[in-house]
Amino acid sequence: MLTVAEAEARILAHAKLRPVESVATADATGRVLREDIRTDRDLPPFDRATMDGIAIAYAPERAEFRIEGIQAAGRSAGQLADPAGCFEIMTGAMCPVGADTVVPYEDVEIANGRARIKAPVERGQYLHRQGADRKAGDVLLHAGARLRSPQIAIAVSAGLARLTVAKPPRLAVVSVGDELVEPGAPAERYQIRPSNAWGLRAALQGLGCPEVELARLPDDPSRIEAALSDLLERNDGALLSGGVSRGKYDFVPGALERLGVVVELHRVAQKPGKPMWFGIAPGDKPVFALPGNPVSTLVCFHRYVKPFLLQSLGARAELPEFIACAEAIEPHPTLTLFLPIRRDASGARLQTYHGSGDYAALGESDGFIEAPPGDSAIPAGASVRYHRWDV
Ligand code: AMP
Ligand code: MG
Repeated sequence: MLTVAEAEARILAHAKLRPVESVATADATGRVLREDIRTDRDLPPFDRATMDGIAIAYAPERAEFRIEGIQAAGRSAGQLADPAGCFEIMTGAMCPVGADTVVPYEDVEIANGRARIKAPVERGQYLHRQGADRKAGDVLLHAGARLRSPQIAIAVSAGLARLTVAKPPRLAVVSVGDELVEPGAPAERYQIRPSNAWGLRAALQGLGCPEVELARLPDDPSRIEAALSDLLERNDGALLSGGVSRGKYDFVPGALERLGVVVELHRVAQKPGKPMWFGIAPGDKPVFALPGNPVSTLVCFHRYVKPFLLQSLGARAELPEFIACAEAIEPHPTLTLFLPIRRDASGARLQTYHGSGDYAALGESDGFIEAPPGDSAIPAGASVRYHRWDV
């Protein structure tokens, strides 16, 4: 059986770079940028006041200045006529020609058209100088950036109404099981909701892959085969949940193989999620068949599918995250354990959890940790791999 690291390497080896598309910046949140964005001008583009107050030509010997006018944001720079003069100036306004220092209103008294300074002043204070942050032509965002709030704001600051981003795959998300009934319909005691598929779709949306076709299939090998054939035809890949273990009704691996999907791995030395299956369908389409237990499905998605998708989208690789164990952890002798945790001041606190069917335990968890196989306890304070529920 493959180790977690071997499974990850085998999966990532198949992550082919997706093509790009142009989208409105307004619709680009969560997507992966695929162009460098440069600033077309210095940042700031002019010497910019950072406080409301007065703009003066620095003169330590002088305390009183005659007000010549007001310099507002959104206006071109005025000109000081007289070194004993000043402009009232607003935050974000251009420094008037001839001035080099801003004194905030808090440090000034204004009466009869004159401003009197009542606090020490340093030359050049409260001016954010042209080009201090970036020079025209500098790269603001590199290709591979995930577009979150700061990146969207920066793209807009550069005047870009459209962005070149990765074209996400269109994915079939398939639940397999006779026991599954849609939310909204009444459920008999022996029935459950296909919650995994909805969780997977939510995760895909968070990764900038909004095009998802949800499907639900019975435990019937020929219907699974026929439906998967259509779904793979219409989509760029598939995520399946359920029907992949060793039970009498687990028909997914057989159906996929009959459809010509080449198995890359089946079973990983991990708990939960041991039966995980991954293969490549004709047309180079990835197929992940995840075990149906809800914790298994989500853990396998975050541990394997998410990095696979991010690499395909061209996202810059992120360093793995680690967290200190708030308590000692008993490893499994041969399997990597994925354990839901909650973060507290000491680090990762194990969530009370009754195994891979206990999805209710995830609601209050922050993510899961990875305990490699071993014979001795991982002591409190030791650092372990951490995967947060960030989508
Ligand atoms: P299986 O992998 O088919 O053996 O399923 C393992 C467990 O996961 C069973 O209790 C199933 O009812 C449950 N399960 C399978 N598919 C889903 C799904 N889409 N959503 C929630 N639970 C599921
Ligand atoms: Mg099943």
